[in-house]
Amino acid sequence: MFQPTHDADAASILFNLPGYRVLAAVRSEGHREVLVEAIADEGACPDCGVASSRVQARPVQTVKDLECGGEPVVLRVRKRRYLCTEELCARRTFTEVTEQLPARARLTTRLAGRVIAQLRGEPRAVSAVAAEHDLSWPTVMGLLAGTVDLAGADPRRLVRRLGVDEHRFRRVRYVRQDDGSVRRVEPWSVMLTDLDTGTILDVVDGPRGKAVKTWLLARPRWWRRRIEHVAIDMSNEFRAAITQVLPRARISVDHWHVVRLANEMVTTVRRRRAWEAWGRRGRATDKPWRYRLLLLAAGDRLTTRQRQRLQEVLDADVELAVAWGIKEHVRQLLTATDTDSFHRHWAALTKAVKATRLPEPARLYKTLCAWRRELLTFCRTRITNARTEAANLNAKTFKRAGRGHRNHDNYRCRIMAYTSTQTAA
Ligand SMILES: [Zn+2]
Repeated sequence: MFQPTHDADAASILFNLPGYRVLAAVRSEGHREVLVEAIADEGACPDCGVASSRVQARPVQTVKDLECGGEPVVLRVRKRRYLCTEELCARRTFTEVTEQLPARARLTTRLAGRVIAQLRGEPRAVSAVAAEHDLSWPTVMGLLAGTVDLAGADPRRLVRRLGVDEHRFRRVRYVRQDDGSVRRVEPWSVMLTDLDTGTILDVVDGPRGKAVKTWLLARPRWWRRRIEHVAIDMSNEFRAAITQVLPRARISVDHWHVVRLANEMVTTVRRRRAWEAWGRRGRATDKPWRYRLLLLAAGDRLTTRQRQRLQEVLDADVELAVAWGIKEHVRQLLTATDTDSFHRHWAALTKAVKATRLPEPARLYKTLCAWRRELLTFCRTRITNARTEAANLNAKTFKRAGRGHRNHDNYRCRIMAYTSTQTAA
């Protein structure tokens, strides 16, 4: 049978703040006020640890709590200030502390938990989450910052494979200098990832090479010595910095970057040929333009029909055919998984490039030669930067949510809080 309980208890059950009972609740303009007190009527002195139930005063503290019925809730907590009864203790009084209300808290633990979960789980703007809970922006940002280790990568975390990638975290700006000249500011951020786990180790500001060097040099020497491989894009600055600071690590360059270069080479030749043939840009009625994606696809993965169409395009233009063939040689090179097959494919590529006088393949080949060692490392280890690039995508989402973060520390905090949840899940 249903037993009606005391009014205050029913309110307490509905309000459900662990460790508290509701004494009264009122609705005022735009918010609700709930008067509560802790259920425990005894506290332990923080100095001597002796329990006391002698209440000296009942101050009321105001804190924020989870919204209720679509309205913000202001809690009025009737606290107990206890007298310490231990004669040897120097402290005379102490104020109650509960799990929901730690010392000097301005909001309940459950509200703080909700705010942090929202910011970590979704790329929402800090200001939107703050507004939802009627909190200030600094309060919310401070809560989030408290959960992230901004002192840098936990040095106890061993990293064997490091990923380095960069992205732009806000628009390029032009800043007028004191002398009247204008300086271009490129807001690049470098992201460092543990490639084995996908964890973001840090996001740092500044020009590529310098940012990486400074960050690495801030790690302990033994930590740096544990790094066996580093995946980067084809950036000379990254390579120079890593070779200098991590002389023992092997650098790997992702096949995606190389395939993109090879495809760009084919596209350049196709465009040039269109100009030479018709004195204008390619059009939908031109076959090379219509089948431009076929030209870039992996040659060995085409259907018979696609293959036929492609063959028509290549038969009609020998230069385009040569460029396409070299692109396919580059693809073959990247399928190698051991040193021997790499050397074999490299020899075939070299022969094909030497056999043509086209400037585009020669330029591509020159770049590949400069990165030959890193390409071989990639082929042997298959280490890619895919995880760093995925993290970069998340970072861009945050950038958009924050309408372009102006403060790098806040940006860094959000990305790292977000990804630490992703890896914990
Ligand atoms: Zn005491």
